[in-house]
Amino acid sequence: MIKTVSILGSTGSIGTQSLEVCEKHGIKVTALAAHSSIDMLEQQARKFMPSKVCIYRDDKYSELKERLADTGIKVLSGMDGLCEIAVMEESDIVLNSVVGMVGLLPTLTAMEAGKNVALANKETLVAGGKIVTELAKKKGVTIYPIDSEHSAVFQCLQGNKREQLSKMILTASGGPFFGYTYDQLRNVTKEQALKHPNWDMGNKITIDSATLMNKGLEFIEAKWLFNLRPDQIEIVVHRQSVVHSAVEYNDYSVIAQMGVPDMKIPIQYALLYPDRMECPTGRLSLTDYGKLTFEKPDYDTFKCLSAAIEAIKRGGAYPCLVNSANEEAVRAFLHDEIKFIQIGEIVSSVLDKFEYFDINSYEDVTKADTMAREYVRSVISK
Ligand code: MG
Repeated sequence: MIKTVSILGSTGSIGTQSLEVCEKHGIKVTALAAHSSIDMLEQQARKFMPSKVCIYRDDKYSELKERLADTGIKVLSGMDGLCEIAVMEESDIVLNSVVGMVGLLPTLTAMEAGKNVALANKETLVAGGKIVTELAKKKGVTIYPIDSEHSAVFQCLQGNKREQLSKMILTASGGPFFGYTYDQLRNVTKEQALKHPNWDMGNKITIDSATLMNKGLEFIEAKWLFNLRPDQIEIVVHRQSVVHSAVEYNDYSVIAQMGVPDMKIPIQYALLYPDRMECPTGRLSLTDYGKLTFEKPDYDTFKCLSAAIEAIKRGGAYPCLVNSANEEAVRAFLHDEIKFIQIGEIVSSVLDKFEYFDINSYEDVTKADTMAREYVRSVISK
C-alpha cells in the first residue's frame, strides 16, 4: 500500500476526490499542483501541508507564494513546476489528473524517474500512447488507471490471465443527448451540454461526454493500457452507469465491475491496490435500480466517437491529432465561438486534413498537437 502521493490537478473534480480518499486512509500528500485556482490550492496546501505546491499559470505564482509565505511550503509554477513535482523522491506514486495534453510531459517525467503513475489524464495515453507504454515497459513502472472504465477492466483482470482476455466491453452513459438525431443536436446549448445525467465532472470532460468524444478517447486509452486491438473493444451504451465496464475471456465468460457512479472507488483502488477498504461513497443497491439497460451507440450522429475510433485504427499521429483538435474545438464551444455539432465536424475533418505520420517522441506529439490546434483555429476564424 502506498503511503505518500503527489497530486497533479488537485483542485479539479478528480483531485478533490483524491484528497478525500487520502484523508480517509491517512495517505500523506507530498505535493499538490493546480492550473489556476489559487484560493482552493491555498486551502488544500494549508490543510494537507505538502512540501511543494505548483500553480501552472505563471501569472498567479507571486500571489500564491506570498499567501503561503508563512507555511514553509515551496511554491513552483508552470510546466517546470509540474515536472519537479512529478519526480519527488518522497512520493510513492504520482496521481495525474490534469486536464488535456498538458498532462503528458509530467507523466513521462515521472515514469523516467521510475515512479508509478495513477492516471486520470486520459489525453496522456491518447496523444502519447506508444511512447508512454514503451517507457513504462522500459522503466518497469505501472500505470494504475483511474478512469472508471479502465479501472473496471483492471479489476476484472485480477486473478485472470491477460493473454486469455478476448474482448473488452466499454460502457458509456450516452451523455445528455442520447437518442437525439443529428438534426436535434443542431440547436443544443452549452447549458444543456454541461448537464451530465450521472457523473459530476469538470467542464472539458462533461462536453466530451455529451459529444461521446470521451468514449472515443477511452477506446484509445483502453487499446494502449490493455494492449488490445480496436476490434476487441465493444462500446455499449448503459444509461445507469452501474456496470463500469466488463471483459470477456476466451471461454466467453464475461466479468463486469459494478458500483455506484462515484470516482472515489476507482481513485481509491489505484491508491490502495491491491487492498480494498471502506470507501467514502455510497453502496450499490441493485434493487434500487431495478433495471439495467444496454444499447448500441449511434456512430453516425456522434461523429467524435467514430472519428476517434477511426483515428486509432489508422494509428500514427491520428489519435493525437483528433485529441488536440477536440481540445481546441471544446474550448471554442465553451467560449461560444462554435455550435455543439461543429465540434464533431471539426474533429472528423482532421482525418482528411492530415497525412499519416509516426509518433516516436514527445517532440512528435507536440508537432501533431500544434498542427491540429492551428488548423482548428484557422477553421473557426473563417
Ligand atoms: Mg470514464
